[in-house]
Amino acid sequence: MSWIDDPAFTADAPFGPQTLPYGVLPGGVAVRVGDRALLLRGLALGERLEPLVATGTLDALLAAGRPAWSELRARLVEIASASSAPRGAELVGLDGASLPFTVADYVDFYSSRHHAENVGRIFRPDGEALLPNWTHLPIGYHGRAGTVVVSGTPVVRPHGQRRSSAGPVFGPSGRLDIEAEVGFVCGGPVASRLTPSQAADHVFGVALVNDWSARDIQAWEYQPLGPFLAKSFATSISAWITPLEAFAVARVSPPPMGHDLLPYLVEERSWGLDIDLRVEWNGTVVSRPPFREMSWTFAQQLAHLSVNGATVRPGDLIASGTVSGPARDQRGSFLELSWGGKEPVALGDGERTFLEDGDTVRITATAPGENGSVVGLAEVVGTIAPADER
Ligand code: MN
Repeated sequence: MSWIDDPAFTADAPFGPQTLPYGVLPGGVAVRVGDRALLLRGLALGERLEPLVATGTLDALLAAGRPAWSELRARLVEIASASSAPRGAELVGLDGASLPFTVADYVDFYSSRHHAENVGRIFRPDGEALLPNWTHLPIGYHGRAGTVVVSGTPVVRPHGQRRSSAGPVFGPSGRLDIEAEVGFVCGGPVASRLTPSQAADHVFGVALVNDWSARDIQAWEYQPLGPFLAKSFATSISAWITPLEAFAVARVSPPPMGHDLLPYLVEERSWGLDIDLRVEWNGTVVSRPPFREMSWTFAQQLAHLSVNGATVRPGDLIASGTVSGPARDQRGSFLELSWGGKEPVALGDGERTFLEDGDTVRITATAPGENGSVVGLAEVVGTIAPADER
C-alpha cells in the first residue's frame, strides 16, 4: 500500500504508479500522482538527478538523455510506491501548470491514411484521395514553436484571408476546427541521421496535441507550400508529459503499407502505439480516434526528418498528424466529422459543423500498461475566445 492513499493513484486508474507523467507547477517540476502531484524539490534524488529538476522547466531533464530519464523514473516509482512518505515529500493540487518545456522546433506530420484520404476527398473531390508520395515518406511541415500553448489556454479565433466568389475577403475564421493528435517530446544529445532504432532514445515522452486549424484560411492558402497562417495561431499540448517508458507494452505494428519502404525507414521492431483517444465537444463525446491505425511511427518520422542532416534537439515537438480511424465516429477533426460542413454533428446543446465562440474541446487518451494497468495521457483542453476587435 502506497503512502499516496488515493483511488486515483492505482494501477487501474490512468495516473497510477505505472504512468508518473512530468509537468511544471508553481512549486516546480512535479510528477502527477492521480489527481494530485508530487513536487520533486526537496526529495532525496542524489546529486546527479537533483539539478535536472531544480529549475522551473523540464529543459535540463530533456537534455540529460535516456540514462538519466530511466534512473529518475526508477527512483520516482520507488518513492511513490513506498509505504510511508519519504522525507521532503510534498503533494499539491494540479492547478497552475505551465508549458513544461521550451519548445524548440515543432513539426507536424500527416500520418493517418484515413485522415489524408478524407481530407483529399473533401479538398480535391476530382483528384486522387491520396497523393502518390504519401505511402513512401512521412509527409510533414514545419510548424510554429512560439505559439505552442499549455492545455487550458484560451484560443482566440484567428483572422485571415479566405476565398469568396467575389475574390479574397479578410476577417475572423468561420470554419475553426481541431486536430486530435499525439505529440512526441524530444531530448538527449543533438543528433542527425537517426535510424528508426535510435529514435526512441531521442524521445523523452508523449503528450496530447490539439492542432487548431482554420479551414477557410487553409483552403485558400495551402497550395503550393502547405499550411501557414491556418495553423500557426495556436497549438495546444497537455500539461503532463507521459514518459515513453510507460508505453513498453503498448507497442504495435502499423497497418501494412502495401509495398516495401526504402531501407532508412524500415523499423526492426515497430513503434506503433495502441493509444485510444477520446474527443469531447462541449461535454459530448464525438469521436474515439485509434492511434494504432497510424501508418507512420514517431521513429520513422524522426529518421525521415533527420536523414538530410537536419538535427533533432531537446525540446523539439513532433506531432503525429490528425488521428482518424476508418469509422465515422473515429475521425479526429470536425472537417471530417461534418464532411466539410455538410453533415452537422449533434451535441448536447445543439448541432455544430465548426467551432463557435465559447465552445470547449477536451481530448484525453489511454494505453495498455504493464500487468493489465492503464497508462494515461493528460487532457489537452481549450475554449474558443471571440476574435479580437482590431
Ligand atoms: Mn495537424
